[in-house]
Amino acid sequence: MPYDEALGRFEPVLGLETHIELGTASKMFCGCPTTFGAPPNTHACPVCLALPGSLPVANATAIESTIRIGLALNCSIAEWCRFARKNYFYPDMPKNYQISQYDEPLCFDGYLDVEVNGEIVRVEIERVHLEEDTGKSTHVGGSTGRIHGADYSIVDYNRAGIPLVEIVTKPITGTDRLAPEVARAYATELREVMRALGVSDVRMEEGSMRCDVNVSLMPRGSSEWGTRTETKNVNSLRSVERAVRSEIERQAGILAEGGRIIQETRHFHEDTGTTTSGRSKEEAQDYRYFPEPDLVPIAPDRAWVAELKAALPELPRVKRKRLQQEWGVSDLDMEAMHNADAIDLVEATVSAGAPPADARKWWMGELARRANEAGVPLSALAITPDQIARVCAMVAGGALNDKLARQVLEGVLNGEGSPDEVVAARGLQIVNDEGELSAIIDQVLADNADAADKVRSGKIAAVGALVGGVMKASRGKADAGRARELILDKLGVSE
Ligand SMILES: [Zn+2]
Repeated sequence: MPYDEALGRFEPVLGLETHIELGTASKMFCGCPTTFGAPPNTHACPVCLALPGSLPVANATAIESTIRIGLALNCSIAEWCRFARKNYFYPDMPKNYQISQYDEPLCFDGYLDVEVNGEIVRVEIERVHLEEDTGKSTHVGGSTGRIHGADYSIVDYNRAGIPLVEIVTKPITGTDRLAPEVARAYATELREVMRALGVSDVRMEEGSMRCDVNVSLMPRGSSEWGTRTETKNVNSLRSVERAVRSEIERQAGILAEGGRIIQETRHFHEDTGTTTSGRSKEEAQDYRYFPEPDLVPIAPDRAWVAELKAALPELPRVKRKRLQQEWGVSDLDMEAMHNADAIDLVEATVSAGAPPADARKWWMGELARRANEAGVPLSALAITPDQIARVCAMVAGGALNDKLARQVLEGVLNGEGSPDEVVAARGLQIVNDEGELSAIIDQVLADNADAADKVRSGKIAAVGALVGGVMKASRGKADAGRARELILDKLGVSE
């Protein structure tokens, strides 16, 4: 069902569960390193492989990071809590259970304010808890890459035991047709909070931040929530938004025809922007949780928690308010930069010496267009804030105009070198040589005698065509303002 029609008939309820891999040097319960991309099964030891007789010891830095995350999300911090065993069998989990937290999370009852269309939406946080990641299975053969239809599977335990923080929202209601945007704004804000805290590299494409998106619909006027689906491991901010939208449309179509939503996990497909059915959750799985007997409880000292709170960095929303004032831009411009994930890039460009307005113009204009064309985030473009600042300086110094600057950016993005190297290799400097410019103008005047006569007779507006001719003849490299002055001079006309 088309989105607008779906929203006319139903009200969406969202929930987001986000997993963040912490950037600690060692794993959650052993000393194995956590670096990404090592050869398979080289970061594994008796503890993370759960060999008999091995015992876990909790990673203090991971606990500290989780408390800092909880504090940044305005949570209460438990005075006393325990890890729990979550029992289930899966080959990528060598223990046959996962050490997690159940009814005693480390942090609970918080919120994160996000901005959508200039409005603040408060997303309430149910809990923030600490657990260990699983290994990674690869299913070989078969067309889908999933276990069904595969010839065989291989497993890499390097990731098993990496500290994982799970952040669960309370049901998000009242977002109405902005539900997809709210989901995206929340994931974006959360990622920025993690970056500001320096607790994770939060790379969604590498899986160090993964979002599960819960969506249900209730008919307008009803107060009874519908059955929800859980779309797993959505791996980009844009996909979070698309997954919500697609689920709203799909569920509305089923409900409108009198159908029933099945409680299940679903998979999001980047190529089609839709979800397909995964595992049914109609029968609740019994994880037989019980307190982890091999680990002592966690009882964070209150003075230490207060110290951590006092030492929190400037949080992203506060920082954005400060930068907005410093840069003198409107709410809408600021939000556009935020949505494009451009604020850090603009800030770095300004730090490298560019005026804020110029830095914003390039990142939000030409570069945003190119990133969009290539389907990549701005930060993935092969150009640095320093290079943009250099281009801004060349424009300000009169060596380039905007048109030439765009060609310089294109050259840098194509891997032709630094801005200075591209200018030199492509011969892009503005024609500052008066002799050269004068010669071009003489030729243009000779070729456009009619226009020249008009200007001579006082129709100064006709000078535009002549300036255009000069720009064309110089392939955009003339300084248009100087060319206009020289033309009027040569024709003996003054304004
Ligand atoms: Zn280990």
